Amino acid sequence: ALREEIRGWAGPAQTADGVHVQLLANVSDGAAARKASTSPAEGVGLYRTELSFLTAQTEPSVAEQAAIYSEVFSAFPGQKVVVRTLDAGSDKPVPFANHEEEENPALGVRGIRLGWKNPGLVERQLDAIAQAAEDNGVEKPWVMAPMVATVDEAFEFAQKCRERDLTPGIMVEVPAVGIMPDAFLKEVDFFSIGTNDLTQYTMASDRMASSLAMLTDPWQPAVLRLVQNAAAAGQRVNKPVGVCGEAAADPLLACVLIGLGITSLSMAVNAIPAVGVQLGKVSLQKCQQVAAQVVESRNSRDAKELAAALLR
Ligand code: PEP
Ligand code: MG
Repeated sequence: ALREEIRGWAGPAQTADGVHVQLLANVSDGAAARKASTSPAEGVGLYRTELSFLTAQTEPSVAEQAAIYSEVFSAFPGQKVVVRTLDAGSDKPVPFANHEEEENPALGVRGIRLGWKNPGLVERQLDAIAQAAEDNGVEKPWVMAPMVATVDEAFEFAQKCRERDLTPGIMVEVPAVGIMPDAFLKEVDFFSIGTNDLTQYTMASDRMASSLAMLTDPWQPAVLRLVQNAAAAGQRVNKPVGVCGEAAADPLLACVLIGLGITSLSMAVNAIPAVGVQLGKVSLQKCQQVAAQVVESRNSRDAKELAAALLR
């Protein structure tokens, strides 16, 4: 019966008491965005631009990049599209941006740090995003930087975005941001929490290592506390704080995230209906009560069991 309900679910998502919850799609390119546009996704919460360049030996020109980004904007006319600047490095090396072998690439020059070794790379990508947005009549498109670790990085990224009429945000995936979110949020207009990397760095466990799955679990209370910090900071200044990591695709965890004050959930397209159905079964107040208890759990298993017992 539940499977039928999920198959027939058409969105938009709302809690049992009618509070709208924005469910968005994670996409890699225009083809994925067009597929997502036929789903109940209300937009794109994470466009991973680096995935178009995994074999590119030379940096595409601004015009070439703009044509690629334009395909994603055009798939969601008039809807929210959050473009992430290149998160090259670590598990996703991009030949033209990552030049050096590193001993610990997950802790190396990746994400926003690429700008240090590639002068103008970030600026040219922002030019291309601005061009693509303009070509599609999108005003002030949302753009976010991955792997931000310092307030100065957030400030400088935001400045570059504002010079180009882009709406600046940052990913929360380095614990530093979750520890002192207010200082970061002062500089940008939104947060998007990448729970995959946030978990990896909080728990000091390689997200690619299956032997560490117990630790790389977004139900880890320490990870949830950082999510709680970031969401609370957003509520204090009324700025959106979304989640775009795999955690958003777990129906029970989605309820906890909404209860913590998260304002949108972005996930693989196929996961959207199951999350939408589960959200429809509980009130916002229930989510809030459950979330407040779950973050007090002493380990990830207790957190999961408690959520399942209270939400099902
Ligand atoms: C994340 O880290 O949770 C995230 C959404 O980014 P990626 O999976 O692309 O590293
Ligand atoms: Mg990440």
